[in-house]
Amino acid sequence: MAESTIHFRDFAAEVLEQAGALVERIEPEGLEALLPAELNSQLRTGELLRAGFGADLPPEAQRISLESDWLERFGHLLHQRGRRMRVALADPFVSLSNPEKLLEHSLALPNAVYRFNGITGAWTRYLVLLFRYTALSDEKREGIVKVGVNLNQGSAIDGFADELMMQAMTPEAMSAVTPAAKDLPADWPTARVKSYVNRALPSLIHDHLHLFLQGMQRRLDRDLVRIFDYYESLRQESLSKLKKQKVDSARETLRIEAAAREYQAKVVDLKQKYDLSVTVELSQVLEIVSPVQRINLLIKRRKGERKLALDWNPLVRRLEPLPCEWGYTKEAARIVCDDALHLVSLAGHASCPDCGKEHCRACHPRQCPRCRQAAALKQTDQSGQSEPK
Ligand SMILES: [Zn+2]
Ligand SMILES: [Zn+2]
Repeated sequence: MAESTIHFRDFAAEVLEQAGALVERIEPEGLEALLPAELNSQLRTGELLRAGFGADLPPEAQRISLESDWLERFGHLLHQRGRRMRVALADPFVSLSNPEKLLEHSLALPNAVYRFNGITGAWTRYLVLLFRYTALSDEKREGIVKVGVNLNQGSAIDGFADELMMQAMTPEAMSAVTPAAKDLPADWPTARVKSYVNRALPSLIHDHLHLFLQGMQRRLDRDLVRIFDYYESLRQESLSKLKKQKVDSARETLRIEAAAREYQAKVVDLKQKYDLSVTVELSQVLEIVSPVQRINLLIKRRKGERKLALDWNPLVRRLEPLPCEWGYTKEAARIVCDDALHLVSLAGHASCPDCGKEHCRACHPRQCPRCRQAAALKQTDQSGQSEPK
């Protein structure tokens, strides 16, 4: 029996049982369910449902397949349930043998140094948000992207979110005990989650749509060349007629102008045809409570220093990247800012396009401090109210 068929039968049996049906698995690859009246009317089926999922059906059974409308019927039944899930994973009691060596290989801090201050067992909470996106242009693409973050210090866990989720789905991996709330990082305020997601999604979706966008660009380029060639040949034809003075020149000039306008209009049409719109919808939230080995670091930049805890996950045996306190990045390197010792990606400490001076985007997200100061001075100057200090 195909594995997917078994999974689908188990899924259907579970959904029906949860909804109050009495379910019995029958062979080959089927089930028999006795449905309470309400469920029976919701599912538009009889009181007794006999269903088959494989190539061979049990006697008098109806087929339930992924292609049938049954997926939709189960979807209605589940409605909002199953959108939020929390699992706690059991401690595998694996410890990191040489944390200092791992740090040496993993941390990239071009303008700061760090000191290793020990490692301890701890718990953390990961938030994995699943988003469904639809990209619509001349073609359509749908897919799911995951945004995963450690609520302890804000490290992106995209590198191992899939692996961790797989573990979270196996009953053997579950922990019998859930750590106390005081041992876990607190919830993030909604605004913080939103701002994190808003920074992460565009780049994650862009990665997913990479090939789709390439294909779209190719089709657009091809269409642009095709219409250019067409109108260019018309123009050349008219020009050669004019040169040979075979035609009414005023009329031919009008014809060339009309073709040029038509060409411009076609280009605008094409741009509309290939205009891309992406809609994103949150589909599921998974919270994974996991044991970790917490590495305590002291980050030093000039005379300043700050503590930072970085988690190593024993289930997937991976060290999390340093958080970026400005936004979302796939790069490993972090700059430590002078004023507040923020850890930000290189892009988060890039130079200002106007004055060329680097600044920390976590400290000054909207405007470069030097340019803002210059603008303020200029304003005071113009209003003549006071002398700039
Ligand atoms: Zn500036
Ligand atoms: Zn800063």
